[in-house]
Amino acid sequence: MKLVIIGKPGSGKGTQSESVSNHFGIAHISTGDILRNEIKNETKVGKTVQELIKKGNFVPDDLIIQIMKQRLSKKDCEKGFIIDGFPRTLSQAQQLEKFTNIDKVIAIDISDEAVVERISGRRVCSSCGATVHISTHKEPLCEHCCGQLEVRSDGDPQTVKNRLNVFEKQTKPVIAFYEKQGKLVWIGNDSREIMFENIKNQLRKMKGE
Ligand code: AMP
Repeated sequence: MKLVIIGKPGSGKGTQSESVSNHFGIAHISTGDILRNEIKNETKVGKTVQELIKKGNFVPDDLIIQIMKQRLSKKDCEKGFIIDGFPRTLSQAQQLEKFTNIDKVIAIDISDEAVVERISGRRVCSSCGATVHISTHKEPLCEHCCGQLEVRSDGDPQTVKNRLNVFEKQTKPVIAFYEKQGKLVWIGNDSREIMFENIKNQLRKMKGE
């Protein structure tokens, strides 16, 4: 099963990918996590992308395509994968076709207002990287490792607005690209449990169960 999940920032694509990965035993590949890790480890890539990510802009296509080409050739991808955060531009989608064949694309349907509400309450653990929302997580520290919870560097209102604009201009065409290929399924915004049930139903249909 080779999947892509597409959604606006804050649409819950990270959480849903994690659940799909655990449930179906496939790899979860988050380009945002890969890039944040490069920044944390102060690598050459990390230094190149730091400012772009902070402002909510995309990193160059060539760079992310190179990273994905390498990542998808790793052993854990042989049994299938779900990619969260790629492709985000038409050019990335066209390049991806050259090195793998995607079976299904899950697109999350969510309004800009719901995105702003989600992101403003989002906190990330500075130690293990876990993400929580203040509406459900009342503790001041991370439940996994007791690390400090912080607002993500690209989570301030101006950056969120920019990320939504970038999504509209750059990523909407990717949705149309997969819709034309008949690979797209829409999932409405709901609680994480209901969204996951809906995704599972769609994937079962795809597997002919
Ligand atoms: P995410 O965690 O998926 O929201 O990604 C965080 C940030 O990483 C994005 O706002 C972009 O700056 C950058 N990024 C992640 N994936 C890509 C991609 N496929 N193309 C360009 N930039 C990306």
